[in-house]
Parts: sequence; structure tokens; C-alpha cells
Amino acid sequence: MSELICQACSTVYSMNDPRWQCDCGGLLDISFVPAFPLEKIKQRKPLMWRYREAIPIENDAHIVSFDEGFTPLSEVVIAGKKVLIKQEHLFPTGSFKDRGASVLISKIKELGISKVVEDSSGNAGSAIAAYCAAAGIACDIYVPADTSEGKLAQIQLFGANLNKIPGTREDTAAAVLKAAETVYYASHYWNPFFFHGTKTFAFEVAEQLGWKSPDTLILAVGNGSLILGAYIGFKELYDAGIIDKIPRLIGVQTENCAPLYHAFRENLKKVPEIKGKKTIAEGIAIAAPIRGNQIIEAVRNTGGHFIVVSEDEIKESLKEMCRRGYYIEPTAAAAIAGVKKYLHHHQQGSGGDELIVLVFTGHGLKAGRKMLEF
Ligand SMILES: *Cc1c(COP(=O)(O)O)cnc(C)c1O
Ligand SMILES: [Zn+2]
Repeated sequence: MSELICQACSTVYSMNDPRWQCDCGGLLDISFVPAFPLEKIKQRKPLMWRYREAIPIENDAHIVSFDEGFTPLSEVVIAGKKVLIKQEHLFPTGSFKDRGASVLISKIKELGISKVVEDSSGNAGSAIAAYCAAAGIACDIYVPADTSEGKLAQIQLFGANLNKIPGTREDTAAAVLKAAETVYYASHYWNPFFFHGTKTFAFEVAEQLGWKSPDTLILAVGNGSLILGAYIGFKELYDAGIIDKIPRLIGVQTENCAPLYHAFRENLKKVPEIKGKKTIAEGIAIAAPIRGNQIIEAVRNTGGHFIVVSEDEIKESLKEMCRRGYYIEPTAAAAIAGVKKYLHHHQQGSGGDELIVLVFTGHGLKAGRKMLEF
């Protein structure tokens, strides 16, 4: 049976209990057994909802979708090595957050909720705003005041109420928590349904490789909505006997805001809140990741680790990818800088045939003018 379960106290709630948090304040996960009817899946359209039996929405009539997903997995040479890049910047709103938003807003529609709040460094806010627009659900989106204007334009034009909060990303998070006392919180890091959307990333990668796992997955990490989604997705495929291993997860953070990197390296029991510095990688400027311990445990379970990259390394990688015709936003370039570091340190050990997948997480059109300043 599917249910919501608290990480802290193990209290169980119904899937249709309209809540995003346990009464004890703990994080909720979804306990759910997916099905993968591979023959049927193969015959469906190349969209993320082709894995319908693995997505915990009860009624098809509640699905909110722009026919998104099945983004290209393309061969690209980085630092002399062939890698595969999942082009997640090619989603309707220009980031992988659409995966989570599609499933979460479908669930919110299923629950009959008419208004939500969400906070974001921009991309999750754009995604939630777009899917709320499609579902006819009202939303208030909270973002830091210095968020890229492309993202602000999206949020406003989708018809959401935009609240620009001065200060840090954490000040924005504090503002939304206040609002969430009275309005349902469609959070991309608190709400477990979001992760059951981002997990479709793993299903697609595995299917695109002929139902196989890559050896290594390298991606930029802030609040962990993609890395945890990927972990859940690969684990579900592994538990179903479809793939024979879970890829090593490598999380990339910027030196200017790297709480997970430090907590992992120093083997800390709890991810401490750090004071982040300003970074061009706004999508991963998360000083206090709510699911930090869960992210570290997932990375550790796969034999992975974290890498930090400097602001200059991110800028260099961004310029290089743009000159090669890939228009991604600066945060997405952190993963490229990360894979370069990874290859530099690991090329000898793991042999030349290591299958590495990385992710273009967000589109360059969101950040246009900022990018010209580098
Ligand atoms: C959200 C985002 C990330 C990081 O995802 P998390 O869920 O915060 O780990 C990376 N890149 C871009 C472009 C994003 O929008
Ligand atoms: Zn609890």
C-alpha cells in the first residue's frame, strides 16, 4: 500500500492527506511500489509519463502535463573524454524542475487544492508557476530579489504572484515558511511528490542506454531534488530487477556555497548551516539543504562523493560550452567544471570505458544578460 512516512518518527499518513510535513516537523517520503511493464512502456509516446505505473498519481484525469520529458542523451567530448549529456535544459520551462512540477501539481490537483506557495532560486518557481497555470491553481512564488530576470519574467507571465525577497536564499525560504502556515506548500525539497517526478530522469537514462545504468552520474547539487530523484529512480529499477547496479552519484557544488561537500568530507552527522557567499551558480546557492543528510546518505550508498569547483572554473566551462553551441545557464556549467575535475583525478583508476552521464540542468535563455558580464 502507498503511504507517506516520516523520516524522523516513522508516523504514517495517507497519500491523500494534504500535508507536506509530519506533525513532528520531520520530512516525509513516499512508500510506494512502482511497476515497470516494459513492453507497454516501449509502445507509448517518448514522454516522462510513459512510466505511468511508476508514478504515484491515482487518477489519469488529474495529470497536468505539457507532454514533457525524454530529453536527448547526447554524446559530447569533454576534456578529451566521451561522456553522455542529458539535455534537461530542453524542458517546457527550461529546466529539469518540470519533471517534479508535473507530478507534484498533478497530486495537488488530485487533492483538490486551489492555491499553493513555493520558494525557489528561480527555476522551480517557474516550473511550479507554469503547471499551476495549466491546472488553474493559484500560486505565490517567493524568490531572492537578485534572481535572473528571465526566470522572473517566466513566473510573472505564467500568472503567479511574484514575491521578491531581499537578502539571501535562506531569507526567501524563511518568508515562504511563514506563508506555508496557511497555504499548501508546493515545495521542491520538502514535498515528496516532487521527487517522484524527478526520478523519471533515471528511468529515461536507463531506457536510453538499453535498460542499463551508467557507471557514474555527475550533477550540480543544491537542495538535491535531482540527485535524490535520480537515486530513488535507479533504486526502484534495481529493486524491480531491471538494472543490475545503481550508478555512482557525484554531486558538484560551488566553493562559494558547499555545505554538502564539507559535511561529507568531514564525516559530520548533520549538515551544518553555512554562510554561503554570492555565486554565479544561483541554482545551487543553498546554504542549508533541508534534505542534506538524506542526500549524503544516498551519495555514500552509491560509493560516490562531492566535488567543489570555483567561480572561475564555472565561468570557463560556461564560455566553452556556449562557444560549442550549447546555451546553458551558469549553474548547469558547474557540472561541466565538475566533470573536468573528476576526470583529472579519476582517469587512471577507473579505466577508459567508464560510462559517465552528466546533466545540462537549465537553459541559458533564463540568464542572458548576466552571462554577458563574465
Ligand atoms: C535546481 C537546479 C539545480 C540544482 O538542483 P537541486 O534540486 O537544488 O539540487 C541545478 N541546476 C539548475 C539549473 C537548477 O535549476
Ligand atoms: Zn514525524
